[in-house]
Amino acid sequence: MPFRFTIERTAGAARAGVFTTPHGAVETPSFMPVGTLASVKAIDPDDLHAMRVQMILANAYHLHLRPGDELVRQLGGLHRFMGWDGPILTDSGGFQVFSLADLRRVDENGVEFKSHLDGSTRFFTPELVMRIERNLGADVIMQFDHVIPGQSDDVAARDASERSIRWLERCRAEFVRLDETGDATAAPYGEQALFPVVQGGIHEVLRREAASRTAAAGDFAGYGIGGLSVGEPKPETYRILEVMDESLPRERPRYLMGVGFPEDLIEGVRRGVDLFDCVAPTRMGRTGAAFTSLGRVNVKRAELRADGAPLDPNCGCPLCSRFSRAYLRHLVTSDEILGLRLLSLHNVHFLVALMRDARAAIRDERFARWSREWLERYYSGAASPSSPATTP
Ligand SMILES: [Zn+2]
Repeated sequence: MPFRFTIERTAGAARAGVFTTPHGAVETPSFMPVGTLASVKAIDPDDLHAMRVQMILANAYHLHLRPGDELVRQLGGLHRFMGWDGPILTDSGGFQVFSLADLRRVDENGVEFKSHLDGSTRFFTPELVMRIERNLGADVIMQFDHVIPGQSDDVAARDASERSIRWLERCRAEFVRLDETGDATAAPYGEQALFPVVQGGIHEVLRREAASRTAAAGDFAGYGIGGLSVGEPKPETYRILEVMDESLPRERPRYLMGVGFPEDLIEGVRRGVDLFDCVAPTRMGRTGAAFTSLGRVNVKRAELRADGAPLDPNCGCPLCSRFSRAYLRHLVTSDEILGLRLLSLHNVHFLVALMRDARAAIRDERFARWSREWLERYYSGAASPSSPATTP
């Protein structure tokens, strides 16, 4: 079995586990930095290894458009192309097709849309997306699903959820076909696992139905939880996560897609989530915003101009172990490339270390207290010496 999930210890719904893939093991809970275009912005593979990142993400939609999944395959697959030898997961592009592209038409067969790069008309079907993800060659590939806005009504949510389940059947059939044919379209670099995506918006009945029908559709190595943190209030997100925890198979990893603020990670782990990803740590870095253990900080704030302290006294990243807030503010306000890089390093390090700490707390049977104290400190507003933490 190239894919295996072992649960070592639990604390309520929270789990400390190990997800084994052909490119190595992932200790869970774990945060996966996002390299949308086969690059975790401003962070190279040596940096990722130094931060003990175990698994990263890339995006099928973006890589299909540029440089092209066929080219990536010719060059030996995504691992070789981007010089990363650890596990990779590719998102199917469902989210991008439905949010980023100029959407033209959705029908049972697939989605017609215009490329956000050159306006050319494209048509994605579940089968095509499987071939794209096969060409890219990530360890874990996500099904193509129908993504809708977070607070869609019951009818729209049911329609998208049921279509996603039908598309899962087609993804699975194509995935098996590609595996069995082993022809030139097959990836030359090892086995892959297909994760379904469970949809259903914020509707509990739909979520339960989608989870049980998805689990019945095959023995999957893991499950994606999609369509959350897309504009709904946080209590709704957390309520649906509890529903997902009850209705998904416990012996498989659960991946909460696109959710990556520190408080969401901890609330997700509390509700049985094992894997997370989000563009926030690198995207926030580009706007001068940073996560810290004492809350969020905007490093452009005038109050930091002469602040000689590290950004986060509790962080061991390359930024915090060496440079002051004043220096970081100077770099960022001067648009120095180093400022952007150091902020990205810090933010990614912060989330990866947060999940490592959560894992240790679960294993040591102190997770409930640890998570409560962590959130209290984070919400305390003590991040900035002279005034409360700000949001970007
Ligand atoms: Zn740091």
